[in-house]
Amino acid sequence: MTPIAAPNVHEAEPIPEAAHADVARLLETGELFRYTSPDAPAALLEREFAAVIGSRYALAVSSCSAALFLSLKALDLPRGARVLIPAFTFAAVPSAVLHADCTPVLVEVGEDFRLDLADFRAKLDAADAVMISHMRGHTSDMNALLALAEAHGLPVIEDAAHSLGTTWRDRNIGTLGQIGCFSFQSYKLVNAGEGGMLVTDDPAVIARAVIMSGAYEHNWKKHDIAAAHAARWQNRLPLYNMRMSNLAAAVIRPQLAELPRRVRDGRANHDHVAAQLSAVPWFHVPTPLAAERRAPDSIQFSLRGFSDGEATAFIDAAAARGVPAQIFGMSTDNARAFWNWQFLGLVPDLPRTRSLLMRACDVRLPVRLNRAELDHIAGALVLAAEEVKAPRAYGT
Ligand SMILES: *Cc1c(COP(=O)(O)O)cnc(C)c1O
Repeated sequence: MTPIAAPNVHEAEPIPEAAHADVARLLETGELFRYTSPDAPAALLEREFAAVIGSRYALAVSSCSAALFLSLKALDLPRGARVLIPAFTFAAVPSAVLHADCTPVLVEVGEDFRLDLADFRAKLDAADAVMISHMRGHTSDMNALLALAEAHGLPVIEDAAHSLGTTWRDRNIGTLGQIGCFSFQSYKLVNAGEGGMLVTDDPAVIARAVIMSGAYEHNWKKHDIAAAHAARWQNRLPLYNMRMSNLAAAVIRPQLAELPRRVRDGRANHDHVAAQLSAVPWFHVPTPLAAERRAPDSIQFSLRGFSDGEATAFIDAAAARGVPAQIFGMSTDNARAFWNWQFLGLVPDLPRTRSLLMRACDVRLPVRLNRAELDHIAGALVLAAEEVKAPRAYGT
């Protein structure tokens, strides 16, 4: 048997052929700005995305970070409002909170990669809003979270950057809270290089978000939003100019049709690798919650009973087999390790999240990988762990 070369997990899938003609037309006409027409690709994408995801309104923006920032502004939170965020998330989340002149309050994340509900409960009384990040698509217990937030009168923003296609009780993640935010950055399920989407059912929130995204003068009329709400905010909100260009929209639109396949393949790929990793004693792969159906394009698992040195040796051994894995808390300057968010000033220690991050591994599993490539990745990870934890058994 010829050995399979390690797959390149950073290589993107080609953009569907259907986008090429649309992009060529935009290049010919120069109509790259979304407000050249009410039927511009960015406007069409908003309608299509809202329909796919099951929300009343959608606003296309320049990134998920922009969507998170605009969400907080659209909720009209007071300066200094305290926003609960999970301590395990991407640095873009606390950054968006700071950008909106609010104060992030970090909540512990447990071994299962989900929000620690006891710590969440303890911090609710002093909070003004919740921004829940479904990190790498791992969904926290949304039944409990939404009920607690509602009981305290707190709005919930979902950072669904990495959760497109994930469902909770058959509803799309991003449509459960007041506002949902998605990313089209290249490492997410839909790739436009950069881009984001804000979704909501609230006519006042969408009107405010549309204006602040940069719908200057009467450009809000080129959105499917309630005129009465938009007119009310005319000239009364700052314009942050976070619009999506038609080029990005044209690249995204045909990918929406690919979503069911990408979700199906991503889940099957993940579960195929998860089964092999779960079969050995050194890895813990978190299982989905009963209400959750994930759409993964990567796999996360924790190392069991590894010292710091052994964890590092494992990463090196996997790399030597061509499989890039990272431990969130051990790679230098990782943007998902809360102690690196020095821009926040003093960050409290969160021991549970810290211990998760010090052993939680992250391996990309792009949807396009075939079974042989997935087996190569799973096999390399298992062998790397054996090499570190059971060196006598290995190679004898
Ligand atoms: C990628 C990502 C973001 C940021 O998305 P951008 O579109 O790059 O701004 C935010 N949160 C999570 C969980 C992400 O994975």
